[in-house]
Amino acid sequence: MTSRLRLTIELVPATSWYNNMRKVIPKAEWDNIRKSVYAEQNDRCGICGAEGRLECHELWEYDEEKHIQTLRGFIALCSLCHRVKHIGLAGIHASKGILDYDQVVDHFLKVNECSRDVFEQHKKQAFEQWRVRSQYQWEVNLGAYESLVSKSKAANSQIPTSHR
Ligand SMILES: [Zn+2]
Repeated sequence: MTSRLRLTIELVPATSWYNNMRKVIPKAEWDNIRKSVYAEQNDRCGICGAEGRLECHELWEYDEEKHIQTLRGFIALCSLCHRVKHIGLAGIHASKGILDYDQVVDHFLKVNECSRDVFEQHKKQAFEQWRVRSQYQWEVNLGAYESLVSKSKAANSQIPTSHR
């Protein structure tokens, strides 16, 4: 039932040493990627269509048998859709009083036109999947974006070889 949702939760495994692209490539390269993604989407959120300030979200594919995570591309998201994607982090920020968790949940309900029960069910599934994935070390495949990282000197100290 929850597989038909437009806006879903995507949690990054706790064991994935890879946090995000922007940390391992030069800022200028990241800005190029970010700006071209925003332009391709006519400066609108790729999920809910909101205008205004956008954030660039990485789309990862997980091979559950080989434990390889592959970067498939990027999507521009409004801050609320992005908070939903990383709802574990949103929960932490909410507990520190720097984020309104209900606002994030309300956005999920509105975009998906669903009930709170559907949200709770989807969240439970996402965390179950996260727990399973967090039991493994993930090999990272940056796909078409690999060359950007190798150009960065700083990245060499942060990116281990894939079979470390
Ligand atoms: Zn949005």
